Amino acid sequence: MSIAGRHAIVTGGGSGIGAATAAELARLGARLTLVGRREAPLAQTCAALGGERAYQVADVTSPAAVAAAFAAAVKRAGPVAILVNNAGAAESAPFLKTDLDLLERMMSVNLNAAFLCSQAVLPAMLHARHGTIVNIASTAGVAGYAYVAAYCAAKHALVGMTRALAREVAAKGITVNAVCPGYTDTDLVARAVDNITAKTGRDADDARAELAAVNPMGRLVTPQEVAATVAFLCSPGAASITGQAIVVAGGEIMT
Ligand code: NAD
Repeated sequence: MSIAGRHAIVTGGGSGIGAATAAELARLGARLTLVGRREAPLAQTCAALGGERAYQVADVTSPAAVAAAFAAAVKRAGPVAILVNNAGAAESAPFLKTDLDLLERMMSVNLNAAFLCSQAVLPAMLHARHGTIVNIASTAGVAGYAYVAAYCAAKHALVGMTRALAREVAAKGITVNAVCPGYTDTDLVARAVDNITAKTGRDADDARAELAAVNPMGRLVTPQEVAATVAFLCSPGAASITGQAIVVAGGEIMT
């Protein structure tokens, strides 16, 4: 089934990878609902999209907020055929300075939110015997990195949930995949650069160059490159691809 005319929800759709994904799905004719916490970027991103689109303000870690936002989205644009669980956050700390609150914050936004949103759309997908779920994980979902144990744990858990759900619904016409970007040129990386400069006193250009150097291509991934991978996974040509964790990182990780 082509993307055109299908109702797609993108969480964290107001900025970065989510906004680029919304733009790409809109370009391919999807009917879009953006869901996120911050109204201003959601409204701005929505206004820049072509086609039928709207947004819902919701904290996707809250079961009640997810239920209300998804019910309103379905009422407006019909059952959800594509869900992109993109909302996420990356906080860093050495392991011994990682407290339980930090671990729980990372699990809540990077794992629990995808769990809640997937549960919200799955009954209608099962009924339609068709659907696509794409979880934006990270290279930190398939490899370990220093100083981000909580984020790594949450993204590995998200990849695990992706694989399990993919198996569970494989015969029901539903695909579930994870996309695992390396350092991507978004606000999240800008915040990481600020953090490095604040903690080490280093120059922002140096900090950014160090992150780019992790990628064998020597640059940051662009949000549009991640969006194009998501769109491919939502396209008819990807119908046999499920349970995969697709790395978009310039060759940083090879499996
Ligand atoms: P970003 O900060 O621009 O996007 C994250 C979005 O999620 C924001 O719009 C934010 O408002 C939203 N969000 C956060 N918590 C939320 C909540 N509780 N409820 C609703 N919305 C919430 O950064 P990004 O880089 O575009 O991140 C998008 C996804 O990509 C995240 O899951 C992130 O972990 C993942 N990722 C990013 C990179 C990178 O280098 N930028 C690398 C790997 C994975």
